[in-house]
Amino acid sequence: MIPSVLPTYARAPLTFVKGEGSWLIEADGRRFLDLGAGIAVNSLGHAHPKLVAALGEQANALWHTSNLYNIPAQQKLADLLVEHTFADTAFFTNSGTEACELAVKMARKYWHDKDQPERVKIITFDGSFHGRSAAGIAAAGSEKMTKGFGPLLPGFIHLPFADHAAATEAMDATVAAILVEPVQGEGGIRPLPDACLKGLRDLCDETGTLLILDEVQCGMGRTGKLFAHEWAGIDPDIMMVAKGIGGGFPLGAVLATEDAARSMTAGTHGSTYGGNPLACAVGCAVMEEVASEDFLTEVNRKAGLLRQKLEGLVASHPDVFESVRGSGLMLGLKCKATNADVVKAGYDAEVLTVPAADNVIRLLPPLTITDDEIAEAVARLDLAALAVERGANA
Ligand SMILES: *Cc1c(COP(=O)(O)O)cnc(C)c1O
Repeated sequence: MIPSVLPTYARAPLTFVKGEGSWLIEADGRRFLDLGAGIAVNSLGHAHPKLVAALGEQANALWHTSNLYNIPAQQKLADLLVEHTFADTAFFTNSGTEACELAVKMARKYWHDKDQPERVKIITFDGSFHGRSAAGIAAAGSEKMTKGFGPLLPGFIHLPFADHAAATEAMDATVAAILVEPVQGEGGIRPLPDACLKGLRDLCDETGTLLILDEVQCGMGRTGKLFAHEWAGIDPDIMMVAKGIGGGFPLGAVLATEDAARSMTAGTHGSTYGGNPLACAVGCAVMEEVASEDFLTEVNRKAGLLRQKLEGLVASHPDVFESVRGSGLMLGLKCKATNADVVKAGYDAEVLTVPAADNVIRLLPPLTITDDEIAEAVARLDLAALAVERGANA
């Protein structure tokens, strides 16, 4: 008999009932150190007092009105995002995949309104992930996500990861945009080299093509800059944001320059919940913390500490791990053992990590993780690695 919850997830046998900072408490009382943060969502950890207060205050005042009316918290969040990024304007969604939908629509309508309606194609790269909507799976293009779901949204060109020559060759008068994650998340924590991102920006500039960045996972302070593309010193035309911006409340956004957004006039796009007062009140509280220079300096310092300890961990377990990769507090351990076995051994050691493609385990801790918790996390990963080694020798 089919379970009452549609069984599309292979869930671990864990049930968390409470969160405190970097910790999740299981129904049986065990305390797990959370290096997954709900897949880079709980950017400020669990039950951060400022987020709890912001949500509570808004909940007492007003939950929902609709985008038929002005929403003060939405206006404030848009102003904060415009102040701190390349963008001139923001549209709010409830998720990353909805941000992908709008980014694709915006890029196509841009060219339609410039009397070049044949420019509809969007270049994407192998190993990418852009959500599970019809546009999102067509954009990423991997058979794992698309197989069986009928005709795909046409117009995506899939190229090898970081292959600049292929991108140059694919560029013609039908290309509307390039869509790329500065650091691939689901694809196995694969940072696009800065030179590649700069090269794509140049290619777009030469051909008038729009550059769309998917910073749903790598954005919002995760890599030690507010947005990952800042490391490469370039700006996109359109950017997708979600996950960390809501700190656990469903919220996403599409940020854009005035030029890229010019065709999105009244009536061209909408969302019932997108930019709802509750979500935006929390989003403002997250932005006020994460966009501060001191906060990002701390992320970078702690990232250095974690990375150094992880290099030691890899060196002590050469049969389990191969290397550390990633950027800031978006780190991956490329495994020699099976990544799922390492994640599972982590459950026994009461530390949570997230598997990714390319046999990687992802470490995406709350950006507020403390030095002591970093030491404890690596000690628990060490226990997990020992258990994997014992299992292999048994
Ligand atoms: C998670 C993710 C998405 C999809 O976001 P949802 O909120 O799950 O719809 C899109 N792009 C990237 C890079 C992601 O990591």
